[in-house]
Amino acid sequence: MVNHMKSVLKKVPHYVWWILAIVLLIISILIFYFFIEIPVIKLNGKEQITLSYQDTYKDPGYQVKTKVLQKNIKSCIKTKGNVNTKKIGTYTITYTCNYHHRTFTKKRTIKIVDKKNPELTLKGDNPIYVCPGKELQEPGFQAIDEYDGDLTKNVVIKKLEDGSYEYQVKDSSNNQVIKTRKVEYKDITKPTITLKGPTTLYLTVGSRYPEYGASASDNCDAIGSNNITIKNNVNMNQPGTYSVVYSVKDKSGNESSVTRTVKVSRPAYSGKGKTIYLTFDDGPSGDITPQILDILKEEGVKATFFVINHGSSLDYLIKREHDEGHTVALHSYTHNYGQIYASESAYFNDLRMIQTKVKNIIGVAPTLIRFPGGSSNTVSKFNPGIMTRLTNQVEQQGFDYFDWNIDSEDAGGASSSKEVYDNVTSALRGGNYIVLMHDFSSNYKTLNALRDIIRYGKAQGYTFAALSHNSIKAHHGVNN
Ligand SMILES: [Zn+2]
Repeated sequence: MVNHMKSVLKKVPHYVWWILAIVLLIISILIFYFFIEIPVIKLNGKEQITLSYQDTYKDPGYQVKTKVLQKNIKSCIKTKGNVNTKKIGTYTITYTCNYHHRTFTKKRTIKIVDKKNPELTLKGDNPIYVCPGKELQEPGFQAIDEYDGDLTKNVVIKKLEDGSYEYQVKDSSNNQVIKTRKVEYKDITKPTITLKGPTTLYLTVGSRYPEYGASASDNCDAIGSNNITIKNNVNMNQPGTYSVVYSVKDKSGNESSVTRTVKVSRPAYSGKGKTIYLTFDDGPSGDITPQILDILKEEGVKATFFVINHGSSLDYLIKREHDEGHTVALHSYTHNYGQIYASESAYFNDLRMIQTKVKNIIGVAPTLIRFPGGSSNTVSKFNPGIMTRLTNQVEQQGFDYFDWNIDSEDAGGASSSKEVYDNVTSALRGGNYIVLMHDFSSNYKTLNALRDIIRYGKAQGYTFAALSHNSIKAHHGVNN
């Protein structure tokens, strides 16, 4: 059998062997190129990349070489897919190489994540004080996440065992923030205490001290005027300046106090005389002054107007004041404290200007004056000692200056005509009084109280008069 095979092969012609050898060679080459020498895709960098939201993504690239001969065939690659770093998610980039009608691929995954915590802001104080036994009034909070936006509605509030509050918020990527607001159940705020009646009381020796009292309140405790302690060392038989101190304490020991100044002086005219000198500063005004003049006329009362310059259109009112028997006196041309108290010459320049103006209207030059702010003013302290010098110099130059011993407070503390009325009438103790009031524009408080004040005074037996060189001056103590 074997011998038979050998004899058959010997009969095969040589060229057949050659053909066979060539066919085998071709098959080997084809197998090499199609199945062995294939592209190998290698990615630069990692195949899985994690990035934060809003980072920038740059593809790290790739290498492609054939497996055996290491031939660079990078240009065969087509990439597909993109990455949106503004949106959380997993993105895939596919690298595809078509090589000899076969397709080779490699993938890279990119994860975009939100690693940033939301921003949680607590409004109001931290630590915050809450009245003992009371609950916290939530002062507010805000939670903003860079990715999710406003998360304020998702904030969870928890009261802790020690009474503090915990605020917790999570974003859609489970990034969590916790903040604590420390709450101290303590009253650290002082009570409020306010004087009733005037801050400065002008009284005459031997009269009765009127106690107007004060009112008080507290942020935590129920506190009223009966919790107020009054320290009073006023001696009504001894002229002088006294302080009455009103103090109040809340349950937590916070204390507040206010002081009333009481000036006790001897009556200008001992014994005889019950006179009220109504004085009106800072006018004239087109709305108030004519009505005041009407009331004074109807009540048959004379008063004093310490005028300032309001331009020529109101000159007729200065003339009317004079014509109707009132005293027109000088207050200031400008009423500008910074200007008139800058120096003695500045003061006298201003005073001469208003004096000349009034003289041109009524024909006589007034020499009765009142310092803006009164002789006791402290607004002039920027120029130390100016009031001490001016009070002497005005008298040397023939002027008489007037202060007051009743302040209606119509330019200050009084908020209604009733308060103006009370401030004036309650201070009347049977002597001689200069009453400070104002007829500047819109001062209806005084206008509406005026007739009642006059009638009260008349009923108490007072005479009303305009100031003259012979009347009381009610000089204050000079404070500068
Ligand atoms: Zn004034």
